Amino acid sequence: MSDLLLNALKTSDPALPAAAAETLAAELGDLSGLTVYPRSIAAGQNRLFFLGRRGPEKLLGIFAADAPAGFSGEELPLTMCHAAFTIKRCPTTPANAAALRAALPFLAARPLGLQKSAGAGDRLGLATPGHLRAFRQHTLAPIVAQQSIRENARTGRAPQQVMDDATWGVFQEGWRQGFGADADHLKTTADIDACAAAGYTFFTIDPGEHVDNSAHTAPLPALETKVAALPWHALDSSPADLETRLAEKAIDLGDFSLTISRADLLRAAAKYGRAVAHTVAMYRHLAGVMGSRPFELEMSVDETDAITTLTEHVYIVNELKRLAVQWVSLAPRYVGEFEKGVDYIGDLAAFEASFAQHVAVSRAFGPYKLSLHSGSDKFSIYPIASRLAGDLVHLKTAGTSYLEALRAIAHLNPALFRQIAAFAINRYPTDRASYHVSAQIDKMPAVAGLPDDRLGALLDDFHAREILHVTFGSVLNHPPFRRPFFDTLKNDEETYYKMLETHFNKHFTPFD
Ligand SMILES: [Zn+2]
Repeated sequence: MSDLLLNALKTSDPALPAAAAETLAAELGDLSGLTVYPRSIAAGQNRLFFLGRRGPEKLLGIFAADAPAGFSGEELPLTMCHAAFTIKRCPTTPANAAALRAALPFLAARPLGLQKSAGAGDRLGLATPGHLRAFRQHTLAPIVAQQSIRENARTGRAPQQVMDDATWGVFQEGWRQGFGADADHLKTTADIDACAAAGYTFFTIDPGEHVDNSAHTAPLPALETKVAALPWHALDSSPADLETRLAEKAIDLGDFSLTISRADLLRAAAKYGRAVAHTVAMYRHLAGVMGSRPFELEMSVDETDAITTLTEHVYIVNELKRLAVQWVSLAPRYVGEFEKGVDYIGDLAAFEASFAQHVAVSRAFGPYKLSLHSGSDKFSIYPIASRLAGDLVHLKTAGTSYLEALRAIAHLNPALFRQIAAFAINRYPTDRASYHVSAQIDKMPAVAGLPDDRLGALLDDFHAREILHVTFGSVLNHPPFRRPFFDTLKNDEETYYKMLETHFNKHFTPFD
């Protein structure tokens, strides 16, 4: 046995230079019969932990003087330099993931606070190493486990599985700087319970169903009726109190001040009052469930029809604060269209003017981050958001990593990609219903007309991107696709990682 191996066993964290990691990976590979990921090697509790591959299968390896308890797997006794050692090969089960998080605390999600951050949702459970290779080159703090309950329903995954996939990805890539886990778009207390149990630390409360979009244009008498009917007990207030608090008063927003008219205030309360009450109830439930465990909260109303005005933003956060809610980020419904997987659609000057106002509120009432949902591929607004918000920004992406998987499949398995594209076109009229998209099938380039080596170009077409994006659930749940889809990506994982790295570098660079 080499000194390198013995010394590594004694350190609390090897943090080996790349060349030493390669040497150690080769040694551990010989001992374990696995192809070891060099960056995964980590020391803890007088053991060396590493991730390796055997064919398509990934296994956790543990090298130690004793037979490590708490992990289930196959033990290989070794005698080296007259001393007894054990190599244990463990399947990547939920129980072994939990034991590994306990042994190596950097594998557990943690709150990121007010660090500038980005969420990289991974619907396939394969993307985390690629995401982290991009994060490594930039200044945004990572959220690598991030799925909404809706996405989980469509991919047949549970919150714990999403968390475990992220754990293995973080371990494989040797990411030690910490990461967040976003339980996205939670609508019920049952959603909170499931995600809290799975170790999530960032909870996105979506009270969108409680937003009254009709208040956006309702006349004053209708607004008065709506406001009178709000759940005032839950809001611990009354219509008269509300007016005393906020109507016709100059509110200091840094560079400018805002005076809210009575009509605008009633509109804001009518529209968002129930959403505030729901968010408060969800927050209190979450705080009870988490107990002494640290957590952070985002409120998101991005998936509602009517845009969030400056007055409405002020109303929401003033009320949340009054009701003792603590939050790190907020996703208003911004001006313009945030369609899935494509660039921002709208007037950039109008976005800039409105975003600057939201930033002013977030500084005056927080500070907290402004969250950009459906944030992938919005390349034209990143420089604006970064310049105006500085570090107070969170970028949220999910489906774009699925599209990069399709780009990898177009490259690695053109025949499968052609079948998926044809299937997606059939599914699009149905699957688009719950998504904000405008692609038209007849405007998508004809797949049959493209040679194999140009299929990837479809992933650069607006219409094809949206059509392929919103049909992910149908594609992944179509039995003839499922095996070949995952086999293709797993058999050549570097291709997918490289595509993700390139794509996310484009997302992150404007925020550096
Ligand atoms: Zn969202």
